[in-house]
Amino acid sequence: MPLSKAFLKKIKKALLQKKEELAKSISEEVDGIQGGQGHHLADVEDLASEATDESIVSSIIEMESAELEQIERALDALDDDTYGICESCNEPIRAARLEALPFADMCIDCKRLQEKKRF
Ligand SMILES: [Zn+2]
Repeated sequence: MPLSKAFLKKIKKALLQKKEELAKSISEEVDGIQGGQGHHLADVEDLASEATDESIVSSIIEMESAELEQIERALDALDDDTYGICESCNEPIRAARLEALPFADMCIDCKRLQEKKRF
């Protein structure tokens, strides 16, 4: 195991903190959408811009939910002692990368390859 216990502990703390932040921000945004806007008299333009705001918030929530899922996966991996292994090539992910992106599930090489394929 190339990653030290102290390092993993630090990662876990960062993940839990990030998870809490995300969960809070998602629930606030959901409240914002559901919480009644528009008891006022809105003209068509206002309605249109409200709709746009809502879809922007929806896509933010979608992004944050995806990130939250990645964090959950990383936390599971920490418990299973499989954390820090690239999902694609099964090589250890460099500690510096994990420190910058604690929920990274791929090494930088595989990630770059994947992004190249996608675009
Ligand atoms: Zn890899």
